[in-house]
Amino acid sequence: MADRRAILFDLDDTLYPVERFVMSGFRAVAAVVEARWGVARAAALETLVSAATAARGRELQVLAERHGLPAAAVPELVDVIRLHVPELRLPELSLAVLGVLRRDWRLGLVTNGRPDIQARKVRALGLHRLVDAVVFAHAVGSGAGKPDAAPFLEAGRQLGVAAAATVFVGDDPDCDIDGAHAVGMRTIWLPARVAPQGARPAERADVIVASLADVPAAATRLLAPEWRAHVA
Ligand SMILES: [Mg+2]
Repeated sequence: MADRRAILFDLDDTLYPVERFVMSGFRAVAAVVEARWGVARAAALETLVSAATAARGRELQVLAERHGLPAAAVPELVDVIRLHVPELRLPELSLAVLGVLRRDWRLGLVTNGRPDIQARKVRALGLHRLVDAVVFAHAVGSGAGKPDAAPFLEAGRQLGVAAAATVFVGDDPDCDIDGAHAVGMRTIWLPARVAPQGARPAERADVIVASLADVPAAATRLLAPEWRAHVA
């Protein structure tokens, strides 16, 4: 255990852009809407994509209103998104970075969100084959998810690595950076390309990087002294 170190990653908007999952869900919805109510798939998709900018969070209501779908369609289409098998590919950069890190680090994911949906994302991205542990944060402890301590500690338990020998990489200042910092992990903040409204900087981050490509060097710098001390 003493000679191990770990890097944990958040999933959405850290290892892949979550917009790709949203688009995958929209395509699944458009296919159902065409089959069930005869709305052309391309028109439905266009409505969803434009609503994603103009009426974020209300895309399905906008779709139903604009194309005259019955009220019951909305909850049904929520399920379509939730249950669809997403078409996702891990970005080349994420694949390359995980490949480099695998040589020297134990790797894990700690992800918020409905465990069933997150599990489908992980599988579609092939991440279950690339990391040593996957923690669905809402499925452990109180079920509150990150930034609660439980999911971070569960990842450490699964990997057999102490928090002090663990680096956490994520985009969310509260859930990822503050949560990991609170259990004694080192943190690398990869800010979202487009910061959500009202977003604050991650003041507790040990390192801020502009790209995943910077993570291996940053993580090595963060843990090098402890690492050497452990193996000395
Ligand atoms: Mg995230």
